[in-house]
Amino acid sequence: MQVFYATQFVLPLPPGHRFPMGKYKLLRDRLTAELPEIALRQAESATDGQLALVHTPAYVQAISDGTVDKAILREIGFPWSEAMAVRARRSVGATIAACRAAFDDGVAANVAGGTHHAYADRGGGFCVFNDAAVATRLMQAEHGRRGRTLHVAVIDLDVHQGNGTARIFRDDPTVFTLSMHGQKNFPFRKEASDLDVDLPDGTGDAAYIEALELALGELERRFAPGLVIYLAGADPHEGDRLGRLKLTWDGLEARDRRVFDWAWQRGVPLAFAMAGGYGTRMEDTVQVQVNTFAAGVQAWRRWQNRRR
Ligand SMILES: [Zn+2]
Repeated sequence: MQVFYATQFVLPLPPGHRFPMGKYKLLRDRLTAELPEIALRQAESATDGQLALVHTPAYVQAISDGTVDKAILREIGFPWSEAMAVRARRSVGATIAACRAAFDDGVAANVAGGTHHAYADRGGGFCVFNDAAVATRLMQAEHGRRGRTLHVAVIDLDVHQGNGTARIFRDDPTVFTLSMHGQKNFPFRKEASDLDVDLPDGTGDAAYIEALELALGELERRFAPGLVIYLAGADPHEGDRLGRLKLTWDGLEARDRRVFDWAWQRGVPLAFAMAGGYGTRMEDTVQVQVNTFAAGVQAWRRWQNRRR
């Protein structure tokens, strides 16, 4: 299974910063050690033209040259540096590459990405550019050149609402945004996705899986995707500092398997990205993500078997 990374570009953060930057290296090391089916590939940078499919040229320019508004930087939560700008571009590139690979192989991934709080003209909540949105628009443009309309479903199961993605695609009938998130979690002013599932604090495994089943059913009644982009946030886990849900390892594994099965049963290629994870213990966040990759590899293997 092809997995793309931009994680060699480490974002320099001041000591004590609350973003767990170290999780990406831990995750990559564990994938290398434990899942030999995974082929890790370095991602190319997204170009200005690709970013401009979603983002305003002024915002792209301001992030690139460091002139971005201080208020926007505060919303993003990272200090500006050249490395920050490079990494944000590469991370979008990794989701683009994962989507292309998903069309070839059925399933592929980005070891980072899922930066769903980014809007067209501003970032927020540790998100600079919206990788899933850019990849969606680019895949649609590439299909469009061959005279086909590509319908994309963004299934966002991070504990925070995918507000940027919802806003970007609000009036676009070719993209279905599904967000299942903690009602009381950031962002406090939510956007309207095509389907929002607001979950109460303390939602456990059983209620979560039931809600997911209903949501996938509704998605299917309203939309027929030709590509799924899955944001497999680790922050619904009970050990997360920010998430308010109470999902166990088993619950999150069941969640991942359900999404992978759903796409596979319908013959829809799926690219997934990591989105958030802020475990009290960073190892717990990484464990949730390793489990997601293990489920992804199983789904990928079924695609390969079907071809033989
Ligand atoms: Zn999150």
